[in-house]
Amino acid sequence: MTETAVTSFDGLGLEPDLLQAIKEIGFEEPSPIQAESIPPLIEGYDVIGQAQTGTGKTAAFGLPMLQYLDPENDEVQAVVLTPTRELCIQVTQALRSYAEHLDIEIVAVFGGAPIKGQQAQLRAGAQVVVATVGRMMDLISRQSLVLTAARFVVLDEADEMLDLGFIEDVEKILRMCPSGRQTALFSATMPPPIKALAENYMYDPVTIKITPRKLTVDSVSQAYVEVPAKKKQEKLAEILKAERPEQAIIFCRTKIGASRLDRDLRNRGMSVKALHGDMSQGARDGVMISFKDGRVPLLVATDIAARGLDIEHVTHIINYDLPNSSETYVHRIGRTGRAGRTGRAITFATPDQIPDLKQIEKDAATTITAWETPEERIEHGRPPRRRERKGRKPASLDGDGVEDRDAEPVAEGNGAGPSDSGDGITKLYVNRGRKSGIGEDDLRWALNEGAVLSDDQIASIKVLDRFAFVEVASDAAEKTVERLDGSRLKGADIRVEVARR
Ligand code: AMP
Repeated sequence: MTETAVTSFDGLGLEPDLLQAIKEIGFEEPSPIQAESIPPLIEGYDVIGQAQTGTGKTAAFGLPMLQYLDPENDEVQAVVLTPTRELCIQVTQALRSYAEHLDIEIVAVFGGAPIKGQQAQLRAGAQVVVATVGRMMDLISRQSLVLTAARFVVLDEADEMLDLGFIEDVEKILRMCPSGRQTALFSATMPPPIKALAENYMYDPVTIKITPRKLTVDSVSQAYVEVPAKKKQEKLAEILKAERPEQAIIFCRTKIGASRLDRDLRNRGMSVKALHGDMSQGARDGVMISFKDGRVPLLVATDIAARGLDIEHVTHIINYDLPNSSETYVHRIGRTGRAGRTGRAITFATPDQIPDLKQIEKDAATTITAWETPEERIEHGRPPRRRERKGRKPASLDGDGVEDRDAEPVAEGNGAGPSDSGDGITKLYVNRGRKSGIGEDDLRWALNEGAVLSDDQIASIKVLDRFAFVEVASDAAEKTVERLDGSRLKGADIRVEVARR
């Protein structure tokens, strides 16, 4: 925890009804984007938030937006524009949960669903409309939606709306809203057209940048594989076999490439699903749900199709095609390494793409090392301390002596040893939680009986919905992982590993 972290929602200026909802949802402390965005938004400032999915940006704009609304006023007072149907639905669900104790109608309108039903919902009354751009334009042109009272406007994932070609429509929509409105713009990246849009359509905005680069990249161990184009499929199969990811997303550049790879992996007998723009909306939703639930271990996806996916359990990102920019790279791998655990990213590059990969490594200020099998990594890894390593690390792209994160699958890197938090306690991550029927007692039992720890070697046990953390005496951490990782608890296979901060 950093000294400056805001550790409570209390001081942000939120109303009791919202605080109550947050508490019931289980958010304990605001995320950085929330801590920084909520106060200025409540004060009425325009805000530009540079942050990605997974940072908590929905609550960052959603809570002040809900607080702004007047429940007595039946007009459309706020709109949220999203690039995709998936994000639209996700945002709507989140806002409804935050509005649990408010009397506010929130309606989602998006393409790929009958417009009639959405028109009826709007007629019945909507104070907040969460929309995809195309469908909102459509509803406006049919006079089912008027924006003359929409004084709180959010552009969510603005860069993706740009990539999808919606930016002119976004500007048209902004022009239809009152000029005295408050505007919040969230975007993972700030390409020039988005900067221009902010300059033209926002008033004296407060800019908040949550630097995902360092954060994201630090929590992900990154490797590359140099492979000729013709050998990629074979190499991928080899890597999947060696890495045995719990859940992986394999990124392809094109729809055709994605469906071809999907077919190939299937032919090799792997359980895989594809997600790309040629699929029907229904099929895409089905895939998203089964992946999110953990029923599908491998997902082959294009960047566009994978937009807005917020997937907690992804252990591996595989860039089957080299991302075409450093920002895409960071965005893709930002999907792993969440929830305090180590994620892994493996990037394929053909020999002539190696200079591009070097550029990405440089831009992202990170180290991407040559891929090794997990066995080789263990061999090279487990250093006693960060700095005392020479001649044992796998080659970095540059071959210089920079830190080799890849060789440290579990390191926290605070100088006190690879995973000790400095007080003789090591935090372990367990990949199961309440949803698997596991409670604190079960974990204590596993630690006592399975790992043969005494109660005083167990510092804490925290069970969350989908995973848990246990803190144990550092000198017993290795034994605990060895004995419990891969064992079964209440009928579920459990994985235990040293958590990262
Ligand atoms: P978002 O970036 O808005 O899509 O949020 C990503 C995930 O983080 C969602 O599952 C949220 O429910 C969750 N989340 C947002 N804010 C917090 C918080 N302050 N504490 C814990 N989880 C949060």
